Amino acid sequence: MFFRPTWCEVDVAAIRHNVRAFRRVLSPEVEIMAVVKADGYGHGALLVARAALEAGATRLGVATLDEAVQLRDAGLTAPLLVLGPTEGRHVEEAFAREIAVTVFDADTVAAAARAAERRGWGAVHLKVDTGMGRVGVRDEAELVALYRRALETPALRVEGLYSHLACADEADPSFSVDQHDRFRRFVARLEQEGLPVPSLHLLNSAGALRFRAWAYRFVRIGISLYGYYPSDHARAADVPLRPALTWKTRVAFVKDVPPGTPISYGAAYRTPEALRILTLPVGYADGFSRLRSNRGHVLVRGRRAPIVGRVCMDQTMVAVPRDWDVRVGEEVVLLGTQGTERIDADEIAREMGTISYEVLTLIGKRVPRVPVDAEAGQA
Ligand SMILES: *Cc1c(COP(=O)(O)O)cnc(C)c1O
Repeated sequence: MFFRPTWCEVDVAAIRHNVRAFRRVLSPEVEIMAVVKADGYGHGALLVARAALEAGATRLGVATLDEAVQLRDAGLTAPLLVLGPTEGRHVEEAFAREIAVTVFDADTVAAAARAAERRGWGAVHLKVDTGMGRVGVRDEAELVALYRRALETPALRVEGLYSHLACADEADPSFSVDQHDRFRRFVARLEQEGLPVPSLHLLNSAGALRFRAWAYRFVRIGISLYGYYPSDHARAADVPLRPALTWKTRVAFVKDVPPGTPISYGAAYRTPEALRILTLPVGYADGFSRLRSNRGHVLVRGRRAPIVGRVCMDQTMVAVPRDWDVRVGEEVVLLGTQGTERIDADEIAREMGTISYEVLTLIGKRVPRVPVDAEAGQA
């Protein structure tokens, strides 16, 4: 139940479609991990996770233990991996809920071993740094040592060994090729030591779109689950994607103003001619970025209307010609398709100097996410 008419519709059929698009091009033995961190890239983690699992994803990945706990508490039973760091003192909370954690240092492996012994269950994925420079073991001998320490504890399963590509969305593939070579050297070292090689995974969306030969056991699909290609360089004609999120609002106020009328803070905009100004109940506190002041557009009556003046915390003005018969209560699309026009997260990202990921995850908590199912009518 919400009173302010500003909301996001999340098309769960689009999520299913995107999972199936990857499913069709991947070998049957490659599993899809749906990455639903940051509340499902702003779409709602639970509804995305359910749709993805329905369509053939078999695992879930999140950034934090808190996100994982939320999904477990909501009743999801699929294998769940925390991709980011988890503090050693909290690993037992993860194992208590059959949540696997990522480990890359001796202290956390020791904590995981103790937690697994106490719980009788524990699962970790070892992370190696092959060029991302974020988290991960950088040295082969260190990997062997951590792995041996984990293997000493029978209750602790080493489910996976993985790394993360830093440049898979860039034009030049050579950095990714180097990262893959580095990943192979870590694996080769385990083989030389006579250690069993855990399930391997390397690819994010961009990697899965471009370097499918390196899919190994799982691919970790994030942004493309939501219908976006990671960049212009990471597109694949055989993986057609459909954006899942539409951000909508309704016109709160309509006024006709003469030329020279100041609009919004700083009076940074003055109407160049007689215009009809619409006030929308959405602002930067909703993730409708202030960087879009005087630059972006919204869709009104299937056409583009420019944002005029500064975006406020909770309200934004747009201008339309006097002959557009727009009424209070009329639906406006902020992100998505209306009629034949479309404003997608890539367009908004270009305006803001960022990427679609940030545009989507900026959409605030104050905006309700409403699931719709384009294949089945309203869910
Ligand atoms: C976020 C993340 C992904 C998903 O990345 P996309 O580019 O959104 O597909 C995969 N793996 C790790 C480790 C991540 O942190």
